[in-house]
Amino acid sequence: PQRATEIRSLIRDVPGYPHEPIVFRDITPLLADGPALADVVEAFARLCEGDDGHGVDVVAGMEARGFLLGAPLAMRLGVGFVPLRKAGKLPPPVDRVSYDLEYGSAALELRSGTIRAGARVLVVDDVLATGGTAAAAVELVERCGGHVVAAAFLMELDGLGGRARLAGTAVETLLRVG
Ligand code: 5GP
Repeated sequence: PQRATEIRSLIRDVPGYPHEPIVFRDITPLLADGPALADVVEAFARLCEGDDGHGVDVVAGMEARGFLLGAPLAMRLGVGFVPLRKAGKLPPPVDRVSYDLEYGSAALELRSGTIRAGARVLVVDDVLATGGTAAAAVELVERCGGHVVAAAFLMELDGLGGRARLAGTAVETLLRVG
């Protein structure tokens, strides 16, 4: 975004949350700031528009913060939004991809049939950390017949291997945090 420094200042670093040694990046202050939220949505939109843009038919966002950024982006682009939900939240029929967490595993689900075959899909979330969530999202969308044109994040946490985990997918990030 044009005002990257200001956007960064609205992301609160919370050391030790949810446990040491994690520094949690809290985007709540950014969401609460109207001009900053609009600036972020506009920056995402610019990735999709113009001759060099990704050109998307639908935005898919991961629960829960991917909803908060992805739905306004979809409206701005004039396309639909597909929620990629945590397991057990959607009524059947669903498609599902499971993935490993540091402790245990998790799954993302989407309503079967929501993604048209060949649709150009932009995957959106707030934070790219290890890339496990995003890799599962990409796999889920592609299994459902969509084509992931890019995965876009407000923030990329350096040194956790997220970008490498998404090899083969165009990765766009508005901020990088070391
Ligand atoms: P990953 O799967 O890349 O390790 O973690 C990314 C997922 O966990 C995203 O859905 C993101 O919302 C969440 N996440 C992980 N770390 C943070 C963080 O520091 N701040 C926020 N806001 N979300 C995080």
